[in-house]
Amino acid sequence: MKTNRTFTMLKPDAVEDGHIGAILAKINEAGFKIVAMKMTQMSRRDAQLFYAIHADRPFFSSLVEFMVSGPIVAAILEKENAVEDFRALIGATNPADAAEGTIRKLFAKSIQCNAVHGSDSDENALIESEFHFATREIF
Ligand code: GDP
Repeated sequence: MKTNRTFTMLKPDAVEDGHIGAILAKINEAGFKIVAMKMTQMSRRDAQLFYAIHADRPFFSSLVEFMVSGPIVAAILEKENAVEDFRALIGATNPADAAEGTIRKLFAKSIQCNAVHGSDSDENALIESEFHFATREIF
């Protein structure tokens, strides 16, 4: 996969609250092209693997339960400098710290239920994209 791509999930809170359309509009308005997208629900095993880096953190089991609590929308986004620009678009992990106009400031409820995921490096964008999508689902 090219390195001008990043991976995102609209998390269960955003889907449940009816924010899919508004968040996708923000993503498109910011210049990202959607090159893969699906609605799906992670299994407990999926969520444990996806967030394995946080396995020792006190919030890990709570995070896993949240991520399996309902459907998500997974997508791969393309733009110059995609990883960094998307992290700027979504804002800080904790919506209380997120800048005005960011997706998390607008739609997140809490540090855990924070509406969206965004990869933190080109390497993780590729790993996370391949976790969710088959080659034939990426355009
Ligand atoms: P991100 O890269 O901004 O998503 O943040 P992290 O990689 O640090 O954390 C992954 C996800 O774990 C976050 O997006 C939140 O959903 C959740 N999370 C992070 N920190 C906390 C915390 O202190 N408490 C809880 N309950 N969840 C957290």
